[in-house]
Order: sequence, then structure tokens, then C-alpha cells
Amino acid sequence: MHYYSTRNKNEVVNFADAALTGLAPDGGLFVPEEIPQYSAQVRTSLGKMDFCDIAIETIKPYVQGEIQDSSLSDIVQSAFTFTAPLVAVADRFTSELFHGPTAAFKDFGARFMARAFSYLRRGEDRPLRILVATSGDTGGAVADGFFNVSGIFVTVLYPKGRVSPLQERQIAGLGGNISALAVEGSFDDCQRLVKAALADEGLKKRMALSSANSINISRLIPQAVYYSAAAGKMSAGLTDPDGEATPRLKGKKNTAALRPGKPVTLCVPSGNFGNLTAGLYAMKMGAPVNQFIAATNINKTVPDYLDSGEYLTRISQATVSNAMDVGAPSNFERMAAHFSWEQMRNIILGVSVSDDETRETIIRIHEQSGYFLDPHSAVGWKGVDKLLSSNKIQEGAAGILCTAHPAKFSEIVEPLVGKPPVPAALTRAMERTVNARTIPADAAALIEVLSA
Ligand SMILES: *Cc1c(COP(=O)(O)O)cnc(C)c1O
Repeated sequence: MHYYSTRNKNEVVNFADAALTGLAPDGGLFVPEEIPQYSAQVRTSLGKMDFCDIAIETIKPYVQGEIQDSSLSDIVQSAFTFTAPLVAVADRFTSELFHGPTAAFKDFGARFMARAFSYLRRGEDRPLRILVATSGDTGGAVADGFFNVSGIFVTVLYPKGRVSPLQERQIAGLGGNISALAVEGSFDDCQRLVKAALADEGLKKRMALSSANSINISRLIPQAVYYSAAAGKMSAGLTDPDGEATPRLKGKKNTAALRPGKPVTLCVPSGNFGNLTAGLYAMKMGAPVNQFIAATNINKTVPDYLDSGEYLTRISQATVSNAMDVGAPSNFERMAAHFSWEQMRNIILGVSVSDDETRETIIRIHEQSGYFLDPHSAVGWKGVDKLLSSNKIQEGAAGILCTAHPAKFSEIVEPLVGKPPVPAALTRAMERTVNARTIPADAAALIEVLSA
């Protein structure tokens, strides 16, 4: 598969180069030259396939000729040691993407990426420095995914004081080949610093550099897998048994009704829009999904664009769903490379949810069903409510991607509805000590730290 830069169609590379460089030299993002198609046989059996088999079928055409089939299978089996169950909650379906080690969907992309990098760099002796800007969840997932991978060093930049205590421990508590920088600024500042460092000629001469943000195509492609799994199950009329991580009130009946054979709508709580872009890839590959809901918090750059056709980035504002506090979503450039405004409007419904609505939703769903929603998933839930009440979608059709485990954001969830059950991996992470260096929101400061 060839990949080209969103800023120059003639800037063509293979998967290894697209993955290992992260950002194209012209500042653009790499996109696949074409979106491959599932075979008819795969398309009709997605609902019943094993998660790793869906992963192999999804990823294979993107890495053909560069990762051998048997190695891809090894990478997938070792990355996806957990799945994404589709469960019925009240009158909805949720695709739970939080059963990985850092309890958020980013584990899927980060774990695949770390293993793919290690494979693609076999035989290299020059160490690789990976830079990653995070609004909270990416950093932890990437740190965890790359921890102890030899020959690779990771520097995570996060907005100081704007991530949760648990997120900070996941980012800055591992040590070893992972270092953490607390930036005196916003996530957008962190992202700007990373972009500047990746483009710095002096640094590039001195070290092999890459990024691990959702701008990296090798993180994005594996995220298409759980869309195909969720849409496949929903349209086949199948759900998974409830997991113990997500208690339901005894005696409360699920009223969710699957509509087998119908293409589905999936609601994606969105910030930097990597997740939604992966969903668009899954749809184009042939997963039975025909519509997406992009649910944002008040950082609603993309919903506003879908309304008006004008793309106006802005300074991000802090919310209770902090992993979505993005005013200038970097993956928008990728969406715009594949789809015009009119096309996007046909496929994607935008909706924005306030913090009050988010809290109210966490309380209401817990009262109704005993289910704990994290603030990001609650934005998705409320987004569906709002579109239902304005008749933009129909009852029963939408599944919601639950992007994080409620215990990951217990400082918000617990005062509202009590303490959610805590996965063992999060208990272990809380015991770590934070070891981060503070820097100003200035590219020169980052370049200096990296050069030292
Ligand atoms: C990163 C994240 C999001 C936003 O995903 P994007 O790909 O940036 O749109 C939503 N929810 C959680 C919990 C996240 O960690």
C-alpha cells in the first residue's frame, strides 16, 4: 500500500516510512492511496468473527508486502489481548473500548503501533525517539505500549494540571525508556511543540524522530478494527455477555432492540478525530455502518464546520471530558483529504454537549440501569439523546463507543454516582510516583531538552 501526504499527493511512501516518520516532511498527514475492501465473505461474517481475525483482515491490506502474514498475526495476538464487547445498556448498545491496560480505547492503537515499530525496525541500531503530545489518554496508552521496547525512547508532553492524577501516573510513572514533560499550556500547545520538534532540521540530524499521536497512521488503522466488530455484531443481531467491569442493576431489563440486517449508526465521542477517521476507514472497507455521530464537548470546531462549511479552529477550553479538549483537531486534515464538506455532511452528524449535560447524563444512566459512564462516553450518550429529540436519527439505531472506563475519571464520576469498580491495572498505576519535568509552552524549550 502507498501512502501520500495530505498536502502533496506526490509525496508517496510505503507503510514503514509513513509509520516511522509520523508526520510527512511537508507537515501533512499520511493517508492511504486507496481504502481497501473487505471480501464479501469477511463482510458478511464480521459479527461472528474472532476479534483478532477481524484485526488481521482489516490491517493486512495496509501493510501488505511489508509485514509478513505470520508476523502480522503475532503482532495482533500480542497487541489485542483484550476485546471490545458490545453490550446492551438501557435502550442502547455500547461498544466498550476500555478493557485494555490503560482503560481507554487508545490502547488498541498504541499497542499495535509499538509492536509494529519494533518489527519494522528490526536490525536497526540507531535508537528512535518518539514524541507524543497528549490531552490525557494518548500519553498513558503510548507509554504503556512502548514501555521496555528496546531501542525506542518515548517523550510524552502533557498540559500541566489538565490531566487527572491517574492519567499523570500512567504518563509519568513508568520511567525507564519513557520520559514525561509537563507543558505550561494547553494540549494544542503540546501538539504545536511536537510538530516543531519533528520539523527541526538540527534535531533530525542528531536523532531518529517519530511521533505517536493519532496523526500516526499506524495507530489509526488498528482502530478501524473495533468499528467493524461493533457494526458487524449490531447488524447481525448479536451482543456480548455483560462484563464484570460494568455492573447493571439487578432486575432492570434491557430494552435495547437490535435490528438485524440494518446498517448501523455509531456515535463517537471525539476530540482530535483520530477515532472517527478510523471509523470512516472501516465504513469504506465495507463494515455495515452507514452513519456516524461526532459528539464533542463544547470544543465544537467540527460540528460547527459540518453546519456551516467553514473550518475555524480555536483555543481549546477545559471540560470534564478532558481527552476531547481540542480546538484544532489534527485529524481533520485527514478527513478532508478523503471527503468533501457535502460528503462529510451525508455521513457524519455533529453534536456538542455541555459539562452540565454530561454530568446529568452520568447520573441519569446510573439511576436507570446501574451502568457507570465515563464523562467522554456520557458525551456520546447525550449526543444521541439530542439527535433523537431533534429527529435527526431514529430510535434504536445508534451504538455508542465508550472510550474510557469510568474508574479512569473517578474524580468526576464518583461525586455524581459513587465509586465505579476499579480494574486491577488502574489500581497498580495509582501506586506509581510521578516523575515529570516542567517546561514552558515554547518549541525552543522542547528542542533544548531533547538535545541535552
Ligand atoms: C482520546 C480520547 C477521545 C477522543 O478521541 P479522538 O481520536 O482524539 O477524537 C475520547 N475519549 C477518550 C476517553 C479519549 O481518551
